Amino acid sequence: MERTLSIVKPDGVAKGVIGEVVKRLEANALKVVAMKMIHMTKAQAEGFYAVHRERPFFGSLTDFMSSGPAVVMVLEGENAIARYRELMGATNYKEAAEGTIRRDFATDIEKNVVHGSDAPETAAFEIGYFFNAFEINAR
Ligand code: GDP
Ligand code: MG
Repeated sequence: MERTLSIVKPDGVAKGVIGEVVKRLEANALKVVAMKMIHMTKAQAEGFYAVHRERPFFGSLTDFMSSGPAVVMVLEGENAIARYRELMGATNYKEAAEGTIRRDFATDIEKNVVHGSDAPETAAFEIGYFFNAFEINAR
């Protein structure tokens, strides 16, 4: 069993696709074990995306991520990190496979609906960034 962090980003919440995302997770054996709606401050978005601070899009990305509410979730399942990234599709929705969340709902390379951790170490950091142990309903 593996855990990963999922975010329905502010564009996904604004578009009304929270339920659609959750439906796809649950249909693919990714169990939601924690979930809440948050509205990140700019500083919180900068902390979350600190690995990207040298990138040219860092300012724009952290403005976007703090622009409205988002839904953060912890997903659990076999090979959850890679399987959720498969459901999300490529970062650039134009390169994302058909039937993926980003291909179906993204607006552009930045407003791409969802976030998913990319490795076990980043998943651990990202889950701990938003949730404490008592908020994760392991079974
Ligand atoms: P991810 O792991 O697929 O989400 O992609 P990255 O970790 O590479 O980038 C983090 C997020 O930054 C992406 O999901 C996009 O929202 C945004 N992003 C990535 N590349 C670009 C870019 O070239 N331009 C802009 N404006 N945003 C980008
Ligand atoms: Mg990433």
